[in-house]
Amino acid sequence: MKCEYCEIAKGKLQGEKIYEDKKIVAILKETAVTHGHVVVFPKKHYVIMEMVPDSLINYIFNVANKLSVAIFESLGVQGTNIIVQNGTGAGQKTPHFSVEIIPRREEDGLQLDWKPKQLLEEEMDLAFTTLKGEGNKFSEIVGKDQGQDQEEEKEVVIDDAKTDTEAVLEKKDEENYLLKSLNKIP
Ligand SMILES: [Zn+2]
Repeated sequence: MKCEYCEIAKGKLQGEKIYEDKKIVAILKETAVTHGHVVVFPKKHYVIMEMVPDSLINYIFNVANKLSVAIFESLGVQGTNIIVQNGTGAGQKTPHFSVEIIPRREEDGLQLDWKPKQLLEEEMDLAFTTLKGEGNKFSEIVGKDQGQDQEEEKEVVIDDAKTDTEAVLEKKDEENYLLKSLNKIP
């Protein structure tokens, strides 16, 4: 059976592409959970997240974040759910890794809430011991540089063509967005 997302990436199947570059495609879902539901996926076929190279994961989430901002701004929604259904047990339907961006509005009727249940003490102990053991291996797996405070310095682009007014307006836009974003902080 042909992979739907590969066919869209190759242009053999029509998809409502809203963004495309050399590595990834973002489409508007026709069978959407809520209106404005977008899916981002790599052009190359990877079935699950573990198969996707780190740099590509970074890139996909970077773009997903920006699309989420665009959706939040342009559709005037109250929030977005950014979801990976990783594996059939997690509800993955298409065998091609993707990130779903689901615009959320109050009372949109979508049920993504779950009720946490209290674990028994033994269950808790077992999960903790197992995952703690795994966690100790993480530093080797992810590299020792990770987890350090190494926020990249923001590249400052000086555009001579821009007037001071333009620069101030841009700054204002950025502040407005930040203010609006506060509404989605839980
Ligand atoms: Zn595929």
